[in-house]
Amino acid sequence: MQGFNKYYQKPWQKRLAILKENGFLDEKEIAQLENQTVDPILGDTMIENFVTQYQLPEGLAMNYVINGKEYVVPMVTEEPSVVAAASNGARLVKLGGGFQAKSLSRLMIGQIAIENVTAMDQLVETINQRQDELLVIANHAHPSIVKRGGGARWIRTRILADDMLSLDMAVDVQEAMGANMLNTMLEAVADEIRSTLHQDILMSILSNYATECLVSAHVEIPVMVLAKEKVDGATVAAKIAQASRFAHLDPYRAATNNKGIMNGVDSVVVASGNDWRAIEAGAHAYAARDGQYRGLSQWHVDDDKLIGDLTMPMPVGSVGGSIKIVPLVKINHHLMKIESAVQLAQIIVAVGLGQNLAALYALVTDGIQRGHMRLQLKSLAASVGATKDEIPMLVNALEKQHARDSHTAKVLLKKIREGKE
Ligand code: NDP
Repeated sequence: MQGFNKYYQKPWQKRLAILKENGFLDEKEIAQLENQTVDPILGDTMIENFVTQYQLPEGLAMNYVINGKEYVVPMVTEEPSVVAAASNGARLVKLGGGFQAKSLSRLMIGQIAIENVTAMDQLVETINQRQDELLVIANHAHPSIVKRGGGARWIRTRILADDMLSLDMAVDVQEAMGANMLNTMLEAVADEIRSTLHQDILMSILSNYATECLVSAHVEIPVMVLAKEKVDGATVAAKIAQASRFAHLDPYRAATNNKGIMNGVDSVVVASGNDWRAIEAGAHAYAARDGQYRGLSQWHVDDDKLIGDLTMPMPVGSVGGSIKIVPLVKINHHLMKIESAVQLAQIIVAVGLGQNLAALYALVTDGIQRGHMRLQLKSLAASVGATKDEIPMLVNALEKQHARDSHTAKVLLKKIREGKE
């Protein structure tokens, strides 16, 4: 392979040319990569070995009334029916007055792992005694966060094994998600521990198990609005509560329940320019906080109301990372009228709960496929080569079939083209 040495140092056009010269891509494919690259300078700024901008669709979820204010919420996802379901869930919630969302805490935790400890009790005692001093060292490493009203707040120790200690430090990161800021502060404290306490430092890094950065959303929906065809609202509400119990009891169901929540959460996290891997990692760790992986949401019936709650870590920022540099992200913040990271976090958790409601509502009434399938069939039609005009015809034809797979779709498309469907 020619030209790949120091690939990251080559200009963008040269990187594409090297792919062609080595036979990885042909001229047409290279042209496609070029055409969909709106801003190569931005791409190069954001990641390494940049070749093109990957595109995902963005849609708007409607009906989100959160703490009395109505939002349109941008969602970025490749999955059909996510935006529709998020809007439908929020429509039901709106009938009950909307979402009540609140931030329970907003500190980020980082860890310094100390290894080969020989005198554990003594080390723990020393760290506890020097806590204030260590917090000052942390703050000196990033003084601007202190000026903004944030900074390191507390330190605790956890003995993980006879020879291994985790020093956890909590930092008020204000409007940032805080990973880089925290890592800088942790490394300063780790240097101090290494040099003055003569301990071996294994690593210093933020924890994505953001248990001190929790956000909750709460809804109360009159059961009568849940009535569907011949099933009354109270029955539907009772089934949603049972579905919630099922996800609490069983990790197989809990994983799928939480995947549905993350359909909503991730879509807004991505649209807002935040780190969705961080949110995913924190969410699933939190779902297993009592030792068993459980559903993140809870639903129960109280008199004539279906009550829903979702609490989860939501360490998103309104500044930092790619947020202020990606034009579409800036537009999305403007669309949601974001004034603070807490407000963004509340919207995201509300969407997670709205998405969960829509999924449970469909599951306990029609089953997931009825609403989902028409939207999935659009993707199936496009994947077998149907044009914009043929897609509605092919979707209608597929809906009449028992088998809705690519083979059937191809056969039907052929018939449509021959005028036989
Ligand atoms: P940045 O490194 O971009 O830092 C954000 C910076 O914004 C702050 O350090 C601060 O810089 C500035 N700032 C401006 N206004 C404010 C304000 N009001 N409040 C707080 N800060 C403000 O981002 P983060 O430190 O937030 O880290 C997030 C990034 O780190 C993400 O891109 C994530 O993908 C990545 N990351 C994630 C990890 C993980 O999750 N495990 C690990 C490592 C990185 P100043 O004070 O200098 O003005």
